[in-house]
This record gives sequence, structure tokens and C-alpha cells, in this order.
Amino acid sequence: MSLETRSLAPTTEGLDEAARLLAAGALVAFPSETVYGLGGDARQDAACAAIYAAKGRPQFNPLIVHLADVAAVARYAVMDDRARALAAAFWPGPLTLVLPRREEAGLSPLVSAGMATVAVRVPAHPLTRRLLQTFGGPLAGPSANPSGRVSPTRAEHVLEGLAGRIAAVLDGGPCAVGVESTIVGLAEGAPQLLRPGGVPVEAIEAVLGQPLVAGGSAEAPTAPGQLSSHYAPGAAVRLGVTRPDAGEIWVGFGPDCAGADLSLSETGDLTEAAARLFHMLREADRLAGQGGRIAFAPVPDTGLGRAINDRLGRAAAPRP
Ligand code: AMP
Ligand code: MG
Repeated sequence: MSLETRSLAPTTEGLDEAARLLAAGALVAFPSETVYGLGGDARQDAACAAIYAAKGRPQFNPLIVHLADVAAVARYAVMDDRARALAAAFWPGPLTLVLPRREEAGLSPLVSAGMATVAVRVPAHPLTRRLLQTFGGPLAGPSANPSGRVSPTRAEHVLEGLAGRIAAVLDGGPCAVGVESTIVGLAEGAPQLLRPGGVPVEAIEAVLGQPLVAGGSAEAPTAPGQLSSHYAPGAAVRLGVTRPDAGEIWVGFGPDCAGADLSLSETGDLTEAAARLFHMLREADRLAGQGGRIAFAPVPDTGLGRAINDRLGRAAAPRP
């Protein structure tokens, strides 16, 4: 599927159109003080799945959620005293905090890749702030580049990588910082440096009054154990199943799964399957019950199917 990617001017009309597209579930790349982000409504499963599809990510790496102000952050994530101190010192600005997510706040599980945490940031760029105010919701925004490529700092870079795959880019000129946000993990234990970036580590340590410990790799934060208990099935999981055993809850994919209990996508659409994945894991586990068994139909290992299979493989892995 190829779209004609529009370039939107940094005007009231351009911002209104960007907000309208985002509300309709489309993807709009936007400038920030760090790099261009690939924006989608963080409450819409389909928009979040489309972000992964556009970037061609082989895994569901969690996405940073951009918000207009600290009050908005506190609606979606739990802020402790350390988070409030860092927010007061560095927001708006190039600092991302990984915090416990508020499960009932309505974020798609895809922004967290099924984990119990969410990465949040209040950007400083005036145009990003106006976009967030006009849109009025949480904006998922990983860097607006195909997976594995250099992060874009100009609208032209975004188009080089993603033209035809997203609805629009809001052209705000070159980004000022050009490096990504510093990511600090505050979800559990000592504060962790998950990625160095625009805010110096020393400045963060000065505010916290303690050193940051080296975090797990921010590029691969989703070890099997990190899947939130909400989405990690308690039932035993089998993959690639075309004929389920009696008593198994069978989750189909595509039109050839007559009699399936649930389906990732009846038409065999990988983006729809990605959007439904975490909900289906949860629902299948509920239907299977204590000591139950879940069988997933095969999902093609192409495009988003690779990320889906990666996640299903973790769900099927033996648990400690
Ligand atoms: P980018 O695509 O450049 O915006 O990078 C976002 C980075 O934030 C990725 O490396 C993610 O792994 C990391 N990240 C986002 N959410 C979380 C989270 N909940 N826990 C740990 N790291 C995260
Ligand atoms: Mg990136």
C-alpha cells in the first residue's frame, strides 16, 4: 500500500490538518528539539501497529509517548518524587522517563510492547507543543526513520525513509539538538540510564542526588520476563498450529481457520493482527483458564509478522 505523503506547513492550517489526521488514526511525522518523530495516536491500537509497520521493526520495541505537560503525563504514568524532580528540572526538554503505566488510562498496550511501563516525554519545540495542544492526546513518536537507519533531523530525511508509508510530515525545518532524548528508567529500583542523549547524565545525577546505574539495553528492553502479567499468558502456548487439540483455545490468523475461538485477523492482515495481539493474548488466557492451553495458527514471518512471531515466541517460551 502506498500513500502520497503530504508535506504540511508549520501554520495553524497545517497543525489543524495534522491533528485531524492523527485523530483519524493516520501517521504524521513531526519535528521536535531532538529528531523528527513518527507520530500516531497512542490510544489507538491500529495507529500504533501502523507505526511498527512503517518503521519495519522486527520487534515490538516500546514507543516514547509525547505529552503536552506534566499534568498530562501524570494521567498516563505514575510519577514519584524523583520523576517530579526531573520533570521540574528538564521538562519541556530532551529527557524521557520510563515510569509505571496507569493500566486504565487507555494507552494501547503496543506503546509499551506489552510491558507494565511507559516511556514519556514533554518536548520543548514550540511547534511540537502546538501540535500536542491541537491534537489534545498522547502522541506515540519513535524516531521517524526505517528501523536500523539514522534518525532524521529534517523533513527531507523523513521523506527519504518513509515517503509512501505515512500520511504526512509537518515541516518545521531542521531540529536543533539532533541527538535523541536521554532515557532514564524509574520504574523499579535505582534510577537507570537506558540511553544517553540530549540531557547530560551529570545534570540528571545532580538533580537526583545519586548516580544513574547502567540500564539494560534500551534497544532490547523486552526480555520475556518483562512482559506485563496482564499480557503474559499463564496458559501453555503452542505456535504454528493448524489443527488444535481438544481443549486448546485456538487463535486463528487468516480465512482458513474455521472453528477458531479467536482470530488475530480473519482476513490475514498483519497490521490488524499486530493491533490485536496483546488483547488476544489476554483474552485467550482468560478463555483457557487455570492450567489451560492456547494454540496460535501460523503467522507469516514477513513484515510485521516477524515482530508478531518474536512476541509469540516469548509468550510460548518456558517460564521460570
Ligand atoms: P526512538 O525510536 O528513537 O524513539 O527510541 C525509543 C527508545 O526508547 C527505544 O530504544 C526503546 O527501547 C526505549 N523505550 C521506550 N519505551 C520503553 C520502556 N517502556 N522501557 C524501556 N525502554 C523504552
Ligand atoms: Mg530510533
